[in-house]
Amino acid sequence: MPTEFVPSGPDFERSNQKVTPMAPIYSCEGCGYRGAPFGQRRGDEVLSYCGWVDGQPVCAGKGKANAS
Ligand SMILES: [Zn+2]
Repeated sequence: MPTEFVPSGPDFERSNQKVTPMAPIYSCEGCGYRGAPFGQRRGDEVLSYCGWVDGQPVCAGKGKANAS
């Protein structure tokens, strides 16, 4: 899942340029749950999952549970 960036606060100015602070939102690889709290590095990328079982990040289906 690509990491999504969302504004995390009010704009401010730095060197006469307007800057919008951005925060990353990680989506679960399995279900797309936004704000997946558990990340696992694999090579150059970090995979994110919504659950944690037996010491490993896994998809717990949180995104699907909330889907309408
Ligand atoms: Zn998931």
